[in-house]
Amino acid sequence: QSHLLVIIIFITTLLTPITTNNTSPQPWNILSNDNFAGKLTSASSSVEAASIDFGHVTKILPSAVLNPSSVQDIIDLIKLSFDSQSSFPIAARGHGHSFRGQAAAKDGVVVNMRSMVNEDRGIKVSRTGLYADVDTAWLWIEVLNKTLELGLTPVSWTDYLYLTVGGTLSNGGISGQTSRYGPQISNVLELDIITAIFPRNFIGKGEIATCSNDMNSDLFYAALGGLGQFGIITRARIKLELAPKRAKWLRFLYTDFSEFTRDQERLISEADGLHFLEGSVMLDHGPPDNWRSTYYPPSDHLRIVSMIKRHRVIYCLEVVKYYDEFSQHSVNEEMEELSESLNFVRGFVYEKDVTYIDFLNRVRTGELNLKSKGQWDVPHPWLNLFVPKSQISRFDYGVFKGIILRNNITTGPLLVYPMKRNMWNDQMSTAIPEEDVFYAVGFLRSAEFDNWEAYDKENMEVLKFCEDAKMDVIQYLPYHASQEGWVRHFGPRWNTFVERKYKYDPKMILSPGQNIFQ
Ligand code: FAD
Repeated sequence: QSHLLVIIIFITTLLTPITTNNTSPQPWNILSNDNFAGKLTSASSSVEAASIDFGHVTKILPSAVLNPSSVQDIIDLIKLSFDSQSSFPIAARGHGHSFRGQAAAKDGVVVNMRSMVNEDRGIKVSRTGLYADVDTAWLWIEVLNKTLELGLTPVSWTDYLYLTVGGTLSNGGISGQTSRYGPQISNVLELDIITAIFPRNFIGKGEIATCSNDMNSDLFYAALGGLGQFGIITRARIKLELAPKRAKWLRFLYTDFSEFTRDQERLISEADGLHFLEGSVMLDHGPPDNWRSTYYPPSDHLRIVSMIKRHRVIYCLEVVKYYDEFSQHSVNEEMEELSESLNFVRGFVYEKDVTYIDFLNRVRTGELNLKSKGQWDVPHPWLNLFVPKSQISRFDYGVFKGIILRNNITTGPLLVYPMKRNMWNDQMSTAIPEEDVFYAVGFLRSAEFDNWEAYDKENMEVLKFCEDAKMDVIQYLPYHASQEGWVRHFGPRWNTFVERKYKYDPKMILSPGQNIFQ
């Protein structure tokens, strides 16, 4: 049925007159176009840099890179491609921290969004409206630093802050705050988007469509989690709250998976509960800390490791409550009460008290440490999944205690934490499971250039296990090699996704690296 729909939309599109001119500009012959003088380059250093990403497992060369200095440069580029008979592919590249060439444009133009960042502009904070208008090329750490100057902060985060606003809004943006606040895409009030269809009928400023829940709402929701398929987002209005000063940060260790998930699920169901809740799996691979944070007191490493050795797999519940100086006493009491109500292994509770910004930026230290050892820019065959709550025990048994222990190659952070479906809006593009509660599971692997394929093979094994067991698991930060994979990925959302593609990018110009519309 979905294939039929695609064919019908395709024929309709062919019959719809689209203004074209007779020239066929290609990236290599627009290099001399005056509009892009000094901004469009085919220099090998730029093209090479745009061909790789954080994943380091693909190399996809564009013909040129555009370093825009204004939104108009991006409009001009998309228009040029759209208006020509043989349009060329275009991909926005934020910080290039995706894994499989998602921000690549083979033989096309990569738009280096970061060249738009200008310290003097690009973020306007409304104290009364409690929002910030942000150029999407900004990194979340930059947004945080700016809003904190005014005592305000966005509420929903990713674990790592050196990602662009445009990059995470194209996926979802999840972390331990998602259970309370929803993903980052649920905390956006308005977007400015340059779609790939000209002329347009949207309400907006000239060629830019402004959209929100009340204005051009179909485009608004399409772009949120839209994998860059429907337009380049240039501005986002992000919700803010008063910034807390400090974070009480606790970890509890469990040997029993059902106690661990029962406690996690109870905590996320409590209204006005914690500000952050995550969880992870710990395996017998040396010291208990990893690059995501240095946390456990060195004097306790030995006893934690010996517990892991005894049980082979243990679990860590991680929670945070923000507070200010005047509420220190009550937060201490609250956390004590919380500890008493949980079913972790007694004696295995750890506590840290840090500034709000140190908590949010906790991954940075590990990153710099790995960078100094040359271990950051290595292959990262990551796998991220959403697992329905009803399947998480089978997943534990078959994957963590099955595939992972058997193969014995997985190292690095292994995340598992629940979130609530009602914090996501169904009109947004991100595919999520149908159940009220589902788990984010992340295999954040670091590999060597000569062994990453073994990890990738394990990823395939995990996916196959879930598929054979009909667990309705959905990839987050997805990669699918074929369109059949994407049809399955989106399930009931596929038809809407395709309709929106034909509506906003009928010539399939944008974000070809996602490999959805070949
Ligand atoms: P890029 O890799 O540059 O682009 C990703 C996709 O978005 C591409 O398709 C690109 O075309 C599109 N895109 C980029 N900018 C725009 C724009 N302005 N308009 C339209 N499309 C655009 N994710 C989480 O949710 N939670 C986490 O905790 C988390 N932690 C991470 C930790 C690390 C160390 C890394 C490397 C990644 C992590 N991620 C996490 C994944 C990350 O959110 C995504 O990979 C995100 O897309 C990266 O942002 P980026 O700016 O590097 O985007």
